[in-house]
Amino acid sequence: MKLLNQSSVKGFLEKLHAKDRIPNALLFYGPPGVGKTLTALNFGKGILCLKKEAWGCGECLSCKEFEKIKEKVLSGDWEGLSRYEEKDGKKVFLYLSGEHPDFIFVPPLGSSIKIDQVRAVKEFAYIKPALSHRKLIIIDKAQTMTRESANALLKVLEEPPHDTHFILTAQGKEQLLQTILSRTQQVEFKPLEEEAFYKLLGEENKDLYESSAGSYTLALKLKEKKEVIQLVDNFLTLDPAKVYEVSQKIDKLAEEDKELFLDLLERHLEETFLKKGLNYDKFEMVLGRLGELRSGLGRGLKFSLGILSLYALWR
Ligand SMILES: [Zn+2]
Repeated sequence: MKLLNQSSVKGFLEKLHAKDRIPNALLFYGPPGVGKTLTALNFGKGILCLKKEAWGCGECLSCKEFEKIKEKVLSGDWEGLSRYEEKDGKKVFLYLSGEHPDFIFVPPLGSSIKIDQVRAVKEFAYIKPALSHRKLIIIDKAQTMTRESANALLKVLEEPPHDTHFILTAQGKEQLLQTILSRTQQVEFKPLEEEAFYKLLGEENKDLYESSAGSYTLALKLKEKKEVIQLVDNFLTLDPAKVYEVSQKIDKLAEEDKELFLDLLERHLEETFLKKGLNYDKFEMVLGRLGELRSGLGRGLKFSLGILSLYALWR
């Protein structure tokens, strides 16, 4: 099991496992792209392993089924894993699950984790495990839970069934309800250190360390997308002429590049906010608009207009 540069996390989790003291709810928090979800999946495999090995034995039926789901979750190939429910004549996305009966993975759909998803999680939490001796629920990007969702989840976290384990991942603790935090054991993930980063990406990509803030997954994307970095830089000058130019170019980008643009922009705005101690209401409004833009992706929304309105809010 390889945990890049997260050796203290690895040691801590192994200790929990060895003492058979794995809490019912863990929260993995830290910057995006440093291995939180991957670690949740790897450690989760161990939680369900029939031979009770910390990172899974890889050979028991539980590990084998888990491995299949894990690969699909990570590759984004959700065909066959997505569970839906019919509601008011509409299909509502709930979670991802494969052949392993004791594991579900709950990612945000669009921009948030919805109340219907958490209701399904609750139902799942109270079923008896079928293959393994425990059950596992991973809630990915838990910071995207709506307030309603977070409150519903809290009810299960307050009295979790003893054989059910939750792993939540989130970028920051401050984006979660205090009451949720107090029900979880928190594990901090740090950005990759420069040395580990260069080892992964090669010395020639040194310039990406800063724009990806030590996030490996983001850096991998950025390697191919230096043009998107340039657009973000231009936007951040807040020079009206340059911002207008950005808005003109942005509609021509592929959807995934627009998303990348928003990810990078969000990170920069957060940094600016923290450094300069800007007005929180304004910051929240900007983030809200950014979220709207993100959920508008793929719906044929005129992106350039959204970028201009974001600029109007932020400048
Ligand atoms: Zn196993």
